[in-house]
Amino acid sequence: METDSRLTLVIVGNGMVSYKFCERLVENGATAQFHVVVFGEERVPAYDRVHLTEFFGSDDTEDLLLAPETWYTENGIELHLGTSVESIDREQRIIHTSSDLYIEYDKLVFATGSYPFVPSIDGTNLPGVFVYRTIDDLRDIEDYSRNAKSVAAIGGGLLGLEVTRALEISREEGGIEAHIVHRSSHLMSRQLNPDAAAVLQNKVEEMDIRVHLNKQTTHITAEGKTRVLHFTDGSLLPVEMVVISAGVRPRDELARACNLICSVDGGIEINDELQTSDTDIYAIGECASHKGKFYGLVSPGYKMAEVLAKNLTAVEKQNEKRLQRFEGGDVSTTLKLMGVDVAVFGEYRSEDAHITFANSDVYRQLAYRNGKCVGATVVGIWREMGKVQQAVAANRRIWFWNSWRFRRKGKLWREQSMQGVQNWSEDTVICNCTGVKRGELSHACTTGCRTVAALSETTGAATVCGMCVPLLEELIIGMPTVSERYEDNPPLQYSWRGLFGASLVGLFLVLLTYFSRPIPFSATAQNLHHVIDALWRDNFWKQVTGYTLLGLSAGALILSLRKRWKWLPFGDFGIWRLIHALIGIGTLVFLVAHTGFRLGNNLNQILMMSFLMLNLVGTLGGGITALSAKRGSTPLHRWQNWLIRVHTVLFWPLPVLILFHIIAIYYF
Ligand SMILES: Cc1cc2nc3c(=O)[nH]c(=O)nc-3n(C[C@H](O)[C@H](O)[C@H](O)COP(=O)(O)OP(=O)(O)OC[C@H]3O[C@@H](n4cnc5c(N)ncnc54)[C@H](O)[C@@H]3O)c2cc1C
Repeated sequence: METDSRLTLVIVGNGMVSYKFCERLVENGATAQFHVVVFGEERVPAYDRVHLTEFFGSDDTEDLLLAPETWYTENGIELHLGTSVESIDREQRIIHTSSDLYIEYDKLVFATGSYPFVPSIDGTNLPGVFVYRTIDDLRDIEDYSRNAKSVAAIGGGLLGLEVTRALEISREEGGIEAHIVHRSSHLMSRQLNPDAAAVLQNKVEEMDIRVHLNKQTTHITAEGKTRVLHFTDGSLLPVEMVVISAGVRPRDELARACNLICSVDGGIEINDELQTSDTDIYAIGECASHKGKFYGLVSPGYKMAEVLAKNLTAVEKQNEKRLQRFEGGDVSTTLKLMGVDVAVFGEYRSEDAHITFANSDVYRQLAYRNGKCVGATVVGIWREMGKVQQAVAANRRIWFWNSWRFRRKGKLWREQSMQGVQNWSEDTVICNCTGVKRGELSHACTTGCRTVAALSETTGAATVCGMCVPLLEELIIGMPTVSERYEDNPPLQYSWRGLFGASLVGLFLVLLTYFSRPIPFSATAQNLHHVIDALWRDNFWKQVTGYTLLGLSAGALILSLRKRWKWLPFGDFGIWRLIHALIGIGTLVFLVAHTGFRLGNNLNQILMMSFLMLNLVGTLGGGITALSAKRGSTPLHRWQNWLIRVHTVLFWPLPVLILFHIIAIYYF
């Protein structure tokens, strides 16, 4: 009988990060080396917890699943649902489950997430008092709310706001009175400053939700159907149900029980390679504490899953590749709270300079240091949000005219200067939550993903908070498909072929000029050769070819500048690029006419070599551009950008060299 020689990899927990980890393992072919066994305490496979609230009032939570149960089997993963891991014997490397299974492991990964924090006050275990984290919690809250006329959420953070709004909407007809009770002086106090929170509160109250700030609950009592919240200031709030949404804590109880080192603030301690204090045990997602910090957001967990999946496959393949490191997650938060955009990026709490634009509807604040954008806080719609996010990530400079416009109008850029997403650099992160970049999205776009849903499915973008959906929509509109670009569009079809052909001819001329021997002067004045060699013998013809060469070079330069001036709307850029390449060929022909393949000496030689290098890089850039346009290939596109940059740099010394060349000729 054949035995399974693979190592056993046990994953404890089947939540969002566990699923992402499984997905990456499958992509990396890890199931060939590992027998992957997953234990999930909940009855359903991993689901999209972030969008849980949208399923209030819906019977069908199938759509919430990140993948059906069959996905695991089809990909060779053994999934045990409704089964929790109860204990781990690290010495024997055996786990014991609630279904009384004992399984040996070689590697073990904790992905146990968090649990809702419940303050230790009396009354939290009364009927009608809930926490909110899972599908089961959602169903319990929903069922109970059918007979309730009022609800209070303890905690004015993300969950409290979401759950009250969901209840309010689902019961709009019958009407439910919704309250948010928050111990701080403003809502979302961990993310927002008081002014930003005031705008949010304004919007929340417009939705008929009552906000009670500076209220610390001491206990909850029951009076018949009523649950009474008692506050430290002696006031009371009678309601018919309560949802405790006072934050989360990492689920590290199992790790503590088997003596893994855990942080005093909660969370299983991990190093940059996601390893716990036991080198065969890892932790990812909300249960992990990295450098004393645990992340209550999904995107750092996804990053951890990605890193660990790569490392495990790299190690097991005995690959020389260096291990990836998790160096901290992005805590930028982009949420759609009750339909209101709320976002904080970068160092939004920075003590450095700020500029703010606010009214009762929106709050926009930019933090900057040394004139560069380092963070932002946003409440309400901001069309420039994507670009601001990009500016923060790249620490872009905020010029005085940007801040002047911002202070007056709440906009940083003129409408016309708002570059379309399709023109942003390929490395720009478009989906903050999943880290998907513009290049990947554009590639998916050109190869057939023409809806947000298709883009999301292919790349994973917009699967978390959804804040980047407008950017994806803009990208889809701005990016032609391969067929639109290269088949249904003859001018561009012509342009890539033409550009490729022109580049080949140019390359041939460059090599010919460099490798050919100089054309000798005619020995006799009686033949055709003597007429031709007048080109580099006769001063008049030398000036004609020289100035024509200069004129053509200037023409090529002006065409390149046209590319930088995007507001110059004449003609298709592909055609102008082709003309630029043809002029390049013209300069090479006149170079031969001017020099007769003589490379010259001293200054002339430097000028000649600069000119040939410029053309060599230009022709290579042209060829790659044409191929990249044909295939829509991202690596080619990267080469194209690089070569064009070098081509531009090589141009810089030419005007000075040409000037010296002309002066030297007239002087001597
Ligand atoms: C309503 C709601 C809205 C949210 N909105 C956002 C948002 O907009 N943006 C954002 O970034 N984040 C948001 N979050 C947080 C986000 O859902 C979490 O960051 C994410 O789910 C963390 O994934 P995880 O896999 O680490 O943990 P989880 O998804 O919690 O999964 C852990 C799983 O492990 C299981 N488990 C635990 N112990 C064991 C055991 N011993 N044996 C077997 N199984 C076990 C648990 O039952 C659970 O199913 C939201 C959360 C909620 C509840």
